[in-house]
Amino acid sequence: MSRVTIKDKTFETSIPEAEIQKRVKAVADRINSDFQGRVPVLLSVLNGSFVFAADLMRYLNIECEISFVKMASYEGTSSTGKVRKLIGVNTDLKGRDVIIVEDIVDTGVTMKNMLGMLKEYEPASLHICTLLVKPEKLTVPLNIEYCAMEIPNDFIVGYGLDYDQLGRNLRDIYTVVED
Ligand code: 5GP
Ligand code: MG
Ligand code: MG
Repeated sequence: MSRVTIKDKTFETSIPEAEIQKRVKAVADRINSDFQGRVPVLLSVLNGSFVFAADLMRYLNIECEISFVKMASYEGTSSTGKVRKLIGVNTDLKGRDVIIVEDIVDTGVTMKNMLGMLKEYEPASLHICTLLVKPEKLTVPLNIEYCAMEIPNDFIVGYGLDYDQLGRNLRDIYTVVED
């Protein structure tokens, strides 16, 4: 168990890199078999999902594309409940199989907004793929088809996820230590 300090908070390892990779590969394997013969567009939600999206995509052995969107809903360690679109969709999604790639579904508000926005592009199908879900916090009904891991309701950083923009480069996932 190793500890890191970011600004005013201490974190300790909760999901080691090897475990993350095993789970990401398992999700990728399911996508490989479900999307045989199709060419899905991975739609990575910036910033948090960029590390997951890169690893996920490299475990895919089907033809696939990637595109990016950027929404903002979080400041510090608690959700503001507000979602803003900062970078919009720049790929034609009409008639495409779209897989939204998220770092974490917490309350589900961001994802619900995303689904509403993306349906307007008339994709052939729309699927959710997330690295993490906090089932206890989910307040919105969502059909999360691809989820690598479920975690308790604690604030985490690493593997793309930040605490005030720091910690995204950590290879393991760390949980905040309450003092
Ligand atoms: P939601 O709208 O589902 O409540 O929030 C989703 C967003 O909040 C995620 O995409 C992520 O950016 C952020 N978030 C939720 N929980 C955590 C967490 O434990 N750690 C970090 N770093 N971000 C989180
Ligand atoms: Mg996110
Ligand atoms: Mg964040």
